[in-house]
Amino acid sequence: MKKILAFFLTFSLSLTLQLHAQCPTVDIETLMADINADSLRQTVLDLQNFGNRYALREGGNQNVAEYVAGRLNAYGIPAIVDTFHESGNHWIGGPYDQLFYNVKGILAPSAQADDSLVLIGAHLDAIAMDPGMNLLSYTPGADDNASGVAVMLEMARICHLHGLQFSRPVHFMAYDGEELGLFGSVHDAWVRQDAGEKIAVMLNNDMVSYQPTDDWRLTLHWYSNALDIVARAAEICTQYTDIEPYIPSSNANDDAQRSDSYAYYQQGFRAVFAIENIFSTSYHTDHDVADSNNYDYLAHVAKYNLAMLLEYANAATVSVNNIVVAPQLHAYPNPVSDRMMLQYQLAESSNVEVFVTDLTGRTMLHQTEGSQSAGSHFAEVDLAQLPAGMYLCRLHTAAGSATVKVVKQ
Ligand SMILES: [Zn+2]
Repeated sequence: MKKILAFFLTFSLSLTLQLHAQCPTVDIETLMADINADSLRQTVLDLQNFGNRYALREGGNQNVAEYVAGRLNAYGIPAIVDTFHESGNHWIGGPYDQLFYNVKGILAPSAQADDSLVLIGAHLDAIAMDPGMNLLSYTPGADDNASGVAVMLEMARICHLHGLQFSRPVHFMAYDGEELGLFGSVHDAWVRQDAGEKIAVMLNNDMVSYQPTDDWRLTLHWYSNALDIVARAAEICTQYTDIEPYIPSSNANDDAQRSDSYAYYQQGFRAVFAIENIFSTSYHTDHDVADSNNYDYLAHVAKYNLAMLLEYANAATVSVNNIVVAPQLHAYPNPVSDRMMLQYQLAESSNVEVFVTDLTGRTMLHQTEGSQSAGSHFAEVDLAQLPAGMYLCRLHTAAGSATVKVVKQ
């Protein structure tokens, strides 16, 4: 029995190795299936077990950064702790004059498509306060933001597991001092801008694991220089995950400024910022612990990130043909009270018009979007002037039209 088993193991192992040598492609669904909720949970626990990740504590976050860099190195992704100095007087933490610790890992491309790179990042520091705003020394920061770091490390694990090869460098980043005012990302984005680097997309995940209900949604905060990216991100969520994407309208997008991706936007880089749609009830408290997270939801957030990474970093060894989706029209939010985001995709460039009609076909609103290129887009429509009720929102293009039913509150 043992001998037969050993034979089969040897045989199947050599067959697998041969297949990899001859046919170095892997289907995206296979990669998705390898994203693991327990793996994500272990990273969150490891980070929580530091006890305190407050950036201004004695010794700072050097030990945390070394842990994250060690994880990347173990996945064959050369990583360093990028140390920088800051001093000042913080409104919460008081005077400081010390070192901060980012992590930077780089997966080199197998063949370079162009001079741009793809970056996935999350902040490694945490903060906790009591109701009187006094700082606490236990900062588990499980959702904020061990969850985001866990997604970043899960991407590294999947890349390593399948020996994925890309045609753009993939930079894996963890930031220190986010809670003090985006210290780590401001530092990194400035250095990159100064060096003339080009970034195809910066994927930021900050608070992506609190999900107490069955109604899974992910908010995608956007930046005005990267509207096509958020539109594509929403499509990818719909196609590859059980999470419904949520694109805030411009008057609900202020939180785009409150995480690391904003530092990149300020330097002219393109980014998208994913955050749980139901905001954690343990935000910045010592109750933000690993047991409060939903790891199945987090695994789907990781799937969204993986599909984005494969697409924007041009994974050479992954068959990604099935990423292309049929033209669809989505409306966020729905029901809507005033402004609504319509997300759509064009197979080729076209003039785009939006018509909102009532159920009898009467046109209530007509908006011209002008000529739009092939790819993902979204249009903002203000329904504030319409009476409450049900409407049909129709997107008209040269290739045809698509309609979505919208409820105005
Ligand atoms: Zn955060």
